Amino acid sequence: MLRNYVKLMISVEEAVEKILGLIEVLDPEEKPILDCLEQVLAEDVYSGVSIPPLDNAAMDGYAVRAEDTLGASETSPVVLPVVDEIAAGCGAYKEINAGTCIRIMTGAPLPKGANAVVPFEDTDEKEHRLPLGELSRIGILSEVRSGTNVRFRGEDIQEGVRVLANGTVLRPAEIGVLASLGYSSAMVIRRPVVSILATGDELVEVDQSLTAGKIHNSNTYTIAAEVLRYGGIPLILGVGGDSVEALNEKIDQGLFSDMLITSGGVSLGNYDVVKEVLTNRGEISLWTICMKPGKPSAFGMITSGNGKLPHLGLPGNPVSTMVAFEQFARPAILKMMGKSVFDKPSIEVIIDEDVRNTDGRRIYTRVIVTKRGGEYHARLTGPQGSGILTSMVWANGLAIIPENTAGVREGDRVIVQMLNWSEDWIVKEEKLR
Ligand code: AMP
Ligand code: MG
Repeated sequence: MLRNYVKLMISVEEAVEKILGLIEVLDPEEKPILDCLEQVLAEDVYSGVSIPPLDNAAMDGYAVRAEDTLGASETSPVVLPVVDEIAAGCGAYKEINAGTCIRIMTGAPLPKGANAVVPFEDTDEKEHRLPLGELSRIGILSEVRSGTNVRFRGEDIQEGVRVLANGTVLRPAEIGVLASLGYSSAMVIRRPVVSILATGDELVEVDQSLTAGKIHNSNTYTIAAEVLRYGGIPLILGVGGDSVEALNEKIDQGLFSDMLITSGGVSLGNYDVVKEVLTNRGEISLWTICMKPGKPSAFGMITSGNGKLPHLGLPGNPVSTMVAFEQFARPAILKMMGKSVFDKPSIEVIIDEDVRNTDGRRIYTRVIVTKRGGEYHARLTGPQGSGILTSMVWANGLAIIPENTAGVREGDRVIVQMLNWSEDWIVKEEKLR
């Protein structure tokens, strides 16, 4: 007997909303900065220092008082005595007085008394260059103004200001800023552990040979790869078969995870016991979603020792699994990671062939997007059956053929959710086709 078992016909947006309504942002953890790539900062970061900490040279050249260069030109150089040389990282150096200069390297602190740097190219150094310490005079060949080629203390970051806000996604630039402020670790929302369970008596593992009626379990690997791609940590539970005991045992192994994703066993006419097992362990809603592929999906909460484990049941067909993952599992993972933008990056393209919509569902058509004549165009990858996983191999996008329409015509504009960008695609096509 199936308890807590609800059947609903809903739109993709409604399904996403229901899922996100039950998914919670995970706790923060402190980690080395390089392990935080693409994670969300869980604290405001303030600077304890100014960057740069001192006024310094933006170019290799001569630190001068700008006033002393007045009137300097190629034909009438201003000749200044050189009183010292400062390399980057140097801590002790002389100051300059009126009418003197110091040879200086990029990044080296600007000596007291100087307010500008004349680059080497604007001096006669080439003619004069002597071993270090022996260069006593230099000809300045052009005027500089106060501040020329100087990087000022705090021009990048002022001491005490908030540099990165709580909620920022850490990209290489943010990780670099953390490093420049002297942070070796950061507080970020932790990555979700997503347990993955394949169901179906027809499945064998990838290292087993096929016998009559069997197929390899591929969904576990597409799902695990997607989990990794979007920042989660996959926990592979393997194949659960279609028996109550086998499924329960596998689910037990994943109870401590942050989300369970199953594939298969959720369609209406299904012989599987997945629905029954999941129903008995908590609540589950079986959804008929207005989309193709990916119509049958399920979402629920499994009761575990220390709380509730969200469970997303993806359809078993390999393409359906992937398309439904992008629409439902991806936003859930992003939300758990503390992110706030869930939509897939999409662009508007011209479709190069007719696509008929025969039953009014929203179709996610696998397409190849390329740029021609300054416009993005999409063409279908070939047969679109939900078991044809190579249609995903060829695709760099999912073109959305709207629900409640008869389809689109060649030349119409459609929205494509990009799976990859097209530039690397042209190379792939040339290699394989
Ligand atoms: P189901 O939703 O369980 O009826 O499965 C639908 C189709 O997807 C069937 O043809 C299954 O054999 C196939 N399928 C289910 N799970 C997997 C899997 N893990 N890997 C590859 N194909 C699968
Ligand atoms: Mg099945």
